Amino acid sequence: MGTPRETRAAQAEEVVERLEEEYPDSTISLRYSNRLELLIAVILSAQCTDERVNKETEHLFAKYDGPEEYAVAPEEELAEDLNSITYYNSKAGYIKSACETIVEEHDGEVPDTMDELTDLSGVGRKTANVVLQHGHDVVEGIVVDTHVQRLTRRLGLTEEKRPERIEEELMEIVPDGYWQQFTHLCIDHGRATCTARNPDCSDCVLADVCPSEKGDSEIDLASGEPW
Ligand code: SF4
Repeated sequence: MGTPRETRAAQAEEVVERLEEEYPDSTISLRYSNRLELLIAVILSAQCTDERVNKETEHLFAKYDGPEEYAVAPEEELAEDLNSITYYNSKAGYIKSACETIVEEHDGEVPDTMDELTDLSGVGRKTANVVLQHGHDVVEGIVVDTHVQRLTRRLGLTEEKRPERIEEELMEIVPDGYWQQFTHLCIDHGRATCTARNPDCSDCVLADVCPSEKGDSEIDLASGEPW
């Protein structure tokens, strides 16, 4: 078991510093070439890997051009175009409905405020944060996905379970200017080393500051269960 820094803010700073060194090119892995494609890719990525989303959006983005085309597309056809994606029927409905709203209420442009974005079908705070950060360069919060949720609990940065509460706590301790990057660093480390089922603590740059480190901690703080 590692020994965390004295305060959560100091621990967050240490984590950012070390992961930045480990993953200097960390960034979003979804592919898109405009804000609408970004929005659609993020909606599709819920409970689905970015790799699969990128594969499916390659032909989707070639077929549909602009919100009007999604808005008038038959929902069944759109769903068929997405059929390798988890929950593709529901997601086709979200995309069609969100695009209808974008056409009718936002002159065909993806909105740039948290309230307007979360009013769109299928868009929660997490999706909106990603679109604001990468589509509009507006950083209003910290994206908390499953990797961020798991790592921040393991590292003793939060004891909260719900993403909204975790985000609130992280916003108080993650250094300003790193809110966007923090998510990507956690995702990279979560994929490479601190995986859900079998984290490789023996080869982890955070081992000496991680209270969940498997060497002699018996508990995975992410789940609260024994390793
Ligand atoms: S891999 Fe192990 S030591 Fe590293 S952050 Fe995850 S639980 Fe902690």
